[in-house]
Amino acid sequence: MARLRDGRWVAVVVALAFLAGAIAIAGRIASGQAADNLRETALAALPLAAGTLTGEIEKQRLVPLVLARDDAVRGALRRAGKMKEKALNDKLKSIAGDASASAIYIIDTAGIAISASNADEPASFVGIDYNFRHYFQEAMSKGAASQYGLGTISGRPGLYLASRVDDGGKPLGVAVLKVELDGVEANWRSSGFLVFITDERGVVLATSQPDWRFRALAPLSAEDTAAAHEQLQLADAGFEPLPIRRGAGDGLATIDNAGKPRQFVEVVQDLPGAVPGWRLWLLTPADAALSSAANTARLTTLLGLLLMGLLAYVLTRRRRTRRLRQEALARMNAELESRVSTRTAELTRSNTALAGEIAERENAEAKVRRLRDDLAQANRLSILGQIAAGVAHEINQPVAAIRTYAENAGRFLETGKTEPASGNLTSIVSMTERIGAITGTLRTFARRPGVAASPLPVREAIDGALSLLSGRIRDSGVTIVKPRGNASPVVLASRIRLEQILVNLLQNALDAMKDQSDPRIEIQLAEHDDRVLISVRDNGPGLGPEAAGNLFMPFQTTKEKGLGLGLVISQEIAQELGGTLRLDPSNGTGASFTVDLRRIE
Ligand code: ADP
Repeated sequence: MARLRDGRWVAVVVALAFLAGAIAIAGRIASGQAADNLRETALAALPLAAGTLTGEIEKQRLVPLVLARDDAVRGALRRAGKMKEKALNDKLKSIAGDASASAIYIIDTAGIAISASNADEPASFVGIDYNFRHYFQEAMSKGAASQYGLGTISGRPGLYLASRVDDGGKPLGVAVLKVELDGVEANWRSSGFLVFITDERGVVLATSQPDWRFRALAPLSAEDTAAAHEQLQLADAGFEPLPIRRGAGDGLATIDNAGKPRQFVEVVQDLPGAVPGWRLWLLTPADAALSSAANTARLTTLLGLLLMGLLAYVLTRRRRTRRLRQEALARMNAELESRVSTRTAELTRSNTALAGEIAERENAEAKVRRLRDDLAQANRLSILGQIAAGVAHEINQPVAAIRTYAENAGRFLETGKTEPASGNLTSIVSMTERIGAITGTLRTFARRPGVAASPLPVREAIDGALSLLSGRIRDSGVTIVKPRGNASPVVLASRIRLEQILVNLLQNALDAMKDQSDPRIEIQLAEHDDRVLISVRDNGPGLGPEAAGNLFMPFQTTKEKGLGLGLVISQEIAQELGGTLRLDPSNGTGASFTVDLRRIE
């Protein structure tokens, strides 16, 4: 059994007490209602029970009245006792048979019966002295009387109805009819009710319960007992009280039946028109109806309360489940939030670490870039060293020539030969131009890129280079084939620098095809992964293996006025842009150079 805390025990006890109380009250109310219903039924049955009795009495009451006016009766009374009244006896017998009276008889003024309906029976009333009977005395004095009592001869109970027989104002005797109420009592019994009548002292007379006859509603006082003895002419009657208990507060009467108490609903009414002082009582059994109603009500209440209890339990249970679910949800939420915040903290930490790493890497990259720049610069300086040596050698010769031309020009002028002097001076100018070309190219090379690299669509650089050379292209009649399509990959470069490379490649191609009949330059654009390949291909004589091997050495040139620095510088620029410049393997015709750069878009 589940353990309950003290408070719960109290609640359970209170609930059970309430349940028991409610069931008891419901039973009480239902019994009360059932009793009311039974009372109504009994009240409805009362007039019928009364009518059965009064109808019988009223029917018989006429008979003595009629006989009191009957001449045969009068004649018999006038003859009182002098002869046997056979004819009248027969008449009375016949009337008694018709009226269902138990006996009809005629009493003379002395109280002796002179004629009777049962004259021919052993228990004949004829000759019996009825002077002591109240009905005789009262009828003689008042004209009519009735009395309930036991027959002197038969010992059977009945109602005596008496009428005085007069003869011109002189009393002759009394006509009496005795009606036994067996039929009425049987009728009452068959109705299923307990029915009886009481006289003015509460003594039971006619009754559906024969053993209750001459018992009293309540114990009689000595005075009433004497009076009842007197009136009913029952010398030895005890008038014991009926076995009915009343006044339990529920308006019910309880009758002990062989030691078993049974409940009845009791109603009563006066019987006007019957015998003065008579009252009719009717009792209907109530046990079955009361207990059935009470049980139904108790059961209904029990079921109702159990249902309510069940409902309350289910609702409480549901509320509890909902509360538990909400609590679980809140717990889960809290846990989730804590996990999220833990995870967020972890992420923040790893983010910070990552940011640190990135910064470190950027630092390292910057360092590498710086180193590379420094290296490139050092490389340039070393190339510059080579160039300087070459330049010294290259420049030495024109400088020596200039010197010789100048000395000779001086001598020509001394001798007045201005024409050869002028020729020498012209040669000197051409020599200085050559020196100027060498130094100009060197200046370009030595200058560090002033313009910062930025995202540059490659086509713009191609178009820029072509437009710089547009005049020469036009003059040479070369066919330029530009890259197909409109796509323009973007590289990180300074436009001027990339144009320098392309202009140099285009110029070399134009130089190579100077004597070509159908010169043609094809510019191609290709993309491989993150690389952008810009190729400049011509259909000139191409390069032999030896020339190809020394191609990127300074001052390697096959041109009369060439410096052999263009490709060296172009390659240097390409490396500076993070790429390369190379000679493509020969395919038999012309030469093809490719600039390979990193694509950023
Ligand atoms: P320069 O143009 O002053 O000679 P470069 O470095 O630009 O210097 O070229 C070096 C040499 O490479 C050229 O003299 C030439 O012999 C050879 N060369 C370059 N481009 C081509 C080409 N498209 N076709 C044939 N030979 C070429």
